[in-house]
Amino acid sequence: MALFSLFLKADTTPRRYSRRPMNWLRQSINLFLADRAKTRDVHILGVAEPLKEGEVALVGAGPGAPELLTLAALQMLNEADVVVYDRLVSSEILNLIHSDCQRICVGKAASYHSVPQSRINEILIERSAAGLRVVRLKGGDSFIFGRGGEELEQLARSGVKFRVVPGITAASGCTTYAGIPLTHRDYSQAVTFVTGHCKKDGKSPDWASLVASNHTLVVYMGRLAASQIQQSLKEHGMSERMPVAVIENGSRHNQRVLCGHLSQLSRLAEQAASPALLVIGEVVKLSEELSWFNFADQKNLAASALNHLDNE
Ligand code: SAH
Repeated sequence: MALFSLFLKADTTPRRYSRRPMNWLRQSINLFLADRAKTRDVHILGVAEPLKEGEVALVGAGPGAPELLTLAALQMLNEADVVVYDRLVSSEILNLIHSDCQRICVGKAASYHSVPQSRINEILIERSAAGLRVVRLKGGDSFIFGRGGEELEQLARSGVKFRVVPGITAASGCTTYAGIPLTHRDYSQAVTFVTGHCKKDGKSPDWASLVASNHTLVVYMGRLAASQIQQSLKEHGMSERMPVAVIENGSRHNQRVLCGHLSQLSRLAEQAASPALLVIGEVVKLSEELSWFNFADQKNLAASALNHLDNE
């Protein structure tokens, strides 16, 4: 019931909102956004334990749409003295950070680290030692291809108190906003999340085990490796007619969903900008019927991408 007793306090007087969950949530978030300029005076109470001085919250920001932040993530942003964030965090979410809060961009991209991991660890440890309330903000979910575990290991070894707020991972958020159910009783009984980008000395995914039928494959960081992925899946027996989608900027206002077949995967990926997610499996064909977000735009984009490929 803690969730239903959320109070949003602007100025000094707490106000209670509707007990109907959706109205209550909408009112609370709208008020929070409206008051953002003076958010230091606005507290969301009763959702999570307040962030303590010297504590680090590792927070998943979701795939980009601000409405996909959890209430706990919003509370942590509201309470933070400093937010250390990655390049993948959308500008709409950065806009929710209050004006008194220090922001540090450590801009990680797959092939480029603007701040080395060791320095990121130092920043977190130094700020926590200074008694600040620190939010380490990452795209999606920190524990899914987010190196969240690696960062927490360093904090744990340094005796820093921390907590973790899960986020909606790209595989879930982007496919949902593209009208692609990851599982479906007729088409897919399993789903695998795999990375297309490995450590230089790391192992590649075992593609042979990933071509099973009735299975959805979601590839993170796969845009630049799409041609090798296409080749490997084909070599291990996947049909060239297997439906695929490349989702660019999933869940954001500029989302694009490019659909085709395995034989077109690398060319679809070439047309997409970062961040982009690859989805491979029969469930992709449902997006034709189930698209709901930016509906008209998506139809036109998918059609023009396919025309473009057909004309080549
Ligand atoms: N921790 C993140 C993933 C980080 S790896 C999560 O849980 O989502 C970065 C990769 O995630 C990108 O290369 C891309 O493949 C995918 N990704 C993240 N956000 C995305 C978005 N809004 N649209 C498309 N792909 C996204």
